[in-house]
Amino acid sequence: MAEQSDVIIAGAGPVGMLTALALAQTGAKVTVLEQEPHIINSPRAAVYFPSTLIILEELGILDELNAIGFQNRTFGTHIPEFGYSSVVTTEPIEGIPYDYQLHAGQHDVARVAMEHAQKLGVEVLFNHEVVALDDEPDGVTVTAKTEAGEKTFKAQWLIGADGARSTVRRLAGIAFAGHTWPERFVATNVKFDFLKLGYQQANFVCDPVNMAVIALLDRDGLWRCTYMEDSSLPLETYEERIHQRYEWFMRGSKDYEIVSSSPYMLHQRAGETLHKDHVLLAGDAAHATNPCGGLGLTSGVWTGVVLADVLGAVIRGEEDESILDRFSDERRRVFWEVVSPAATENKRMLQEKDPEQRQKDLAAVRALSDDPDSGAMLMLFAYKVIGDVLRPNSRWKDADPTPNVHLDIAGRQGQIH
Ligand SMILES: Cc1cc2nc3c(=O)[nH]c(=O)nc-3n(C[C@H](O)[C@H](O)[C@H](O)COP(=O)(O)OP(=O)(O)OC[C@H]3O[C@@H](n4cnc5c(N)ncnc54)[C@H](O)[C@@H]3O)c2cc1C
Repeated sequence: MAEQSDVIIAGAGPVGMLTALALAQTGAKVTVLEQEPHIINSPRAAVYFPSTLIILEELGILDELNAIGFQNRTFGTHIPEFGYSSVVTTEPIEGIPYDYQLHAGQHDVARVAMEHAQKLGVEVLFNHEVVALDDEPDGVTVTAKTEAGEKTFKAQWLIGADGARSTVRRLAGIAFAGHTWPERFVATNVKFDFLKLGYQQANFVCDPVNMAVIALLDRDGLWRCTYMEDSSLPLETYEERIHQRYEWFMRGSKDYEIVSSSPYMLHQRAGETLHKDHVLLAGDAAHATNPCGGLGLTSGVWTGVVLADVLGAVIRGEEDESILDRFSDERRRVFWEVVSPAATENKRMLQEKDPEQRQKDLAAVRALSDDPDSGAMLMLFAYKVIGDVLRPNSRWKDADPTPNVHLDIAGRQGQIH
C-alpha cells in the first residue's frame, strides 16, 4: 500500500492534470494514476476560448502555452452551396481580459500542467490502470493494474478524470444519461496549406454531406481537418475514405501529408451525479459533448477547477461536504443548459439538410459578418460555460464576465452591455 493521499485522480488527460495542479496549489496531496505509458497525443482539443485562458493564467501556465501554440483572432464560415464565405475577427471587442483563441494540442496542455504539478509534489504514475475501487466510510481504496501486478492506493477522495468511457464512473455505479449520435467523427491532422484556398486559421464548413471543422494547429503548418460520416460505414476502412473527403475540402489539391487520424463516437451525456460518496467526476467522465465548436474541454476544465476549489476547501475543513452536491448540480446544469444545446446547435448548422433552414442559416451567418461586435462575441462566447462560481472566497469568484454578455446561440446573436 502506497502512502495515503488526500486525492487520487484517475487519468492524466488535460482535465486530470489541470485539476491536479489546481488542487496542489490549494495544498492538497495528490496522486494521479494513468493507464497509458505517457500522456496521450490523439488528435483532439486544439482551440481554447477566453474562458479556458482565465484558468490557464490563474494556474500560472498561460505564458508557456502561448509560446508553444499561437493566438488566433479570425474565424471563417464557409457555405460552399451558396459560394459564401464570411470572416469574423475578435478585434472589435474591448474591455475583456482576452481577445484571442489559443491554438495548442491538448497533450501540450496536459504536459505543461503535469510539469508544474510535479514541482508541487503531485505524483504521476503511468502504466497504472484503475480497475477496482472500494468506497469505505473513511475514504476510498483504489486498485491499479501495473506492470508489476496489482497495487492498491488509499485516499480520502477519488476523482474520475478518465474520459468519456470512465472506469471510475462505472465502478461507482453512476449512470451516464443522454444520447449517442448516429454519426462517426473523423479527426485528421494533416500538413497542407489551407490558407491558399481562402480558409482562415479556424473554420466551419457547412454542408449537408461534406461538413468540416478546419483549424491550424501549430506554427509549422499542421492543420486539423475533422468531418462526420455515417457510423454504419465500416470502421476498418475509414482511413481509405479520408482521401475522398480531402478531394472536396482541398478542391482537388493532392499536395497533403496525413500525419495522424482517429475516429470518435459523439455523445451528449452527463453523469446522473458528479458526486457519490468519496467519488467525484470531472472532464469527459462527468459530461461529454459532440466537439462541434470545441466545448468539450472548454466545459470540462471548469468542472475540474471548480471541483479543485470546493474539494480543497472541504479537505481544509472550511466547507461542509454538502458543497460537493452543489458542485455536482451546478456543473450538470451548465452542461445541460448551456454546453449541450450550443454544441448541438453547432452540429445541426454544420450538417443541416433542410434547404429552407440552410437559407435561414446563411442569413444568420451573413448578419454576424455584417455586425462585427456580434461576430466577435460569438467567437469568444464560451465564457458562458463558467456558471456560478460556488464559494464567496473562491479564487475563481471574479472570473465570470457573463453578466456583461448576452448571447442567443440559436439566433446566433451576441451583444455586449
Ligand atoms: C476531434 C475532437 C476535437 C476536439 N476539439 C476540442 C476543442 O477544440 N476544444 C475543446 O474544448 N474540446 C475539444 N474536444 C473535446 C476534448 O478532447 C475532451 O473534452 C477532452 O479530451 C477531455 O479531457 P479529459 O482529461 O476529461 O479526458 P481524456 O482526454 O479522455 O483523458 C482521460 C485520460 O484517462 C486515462 N484513463 C482512462 N481510463 C483509465 C483508467 N481506468 N485508469 C487510469 N487512467 C485511465 C486515459 O488514458 C486518458 O489519458 C475535442 C474532441 C474531439 C474528439
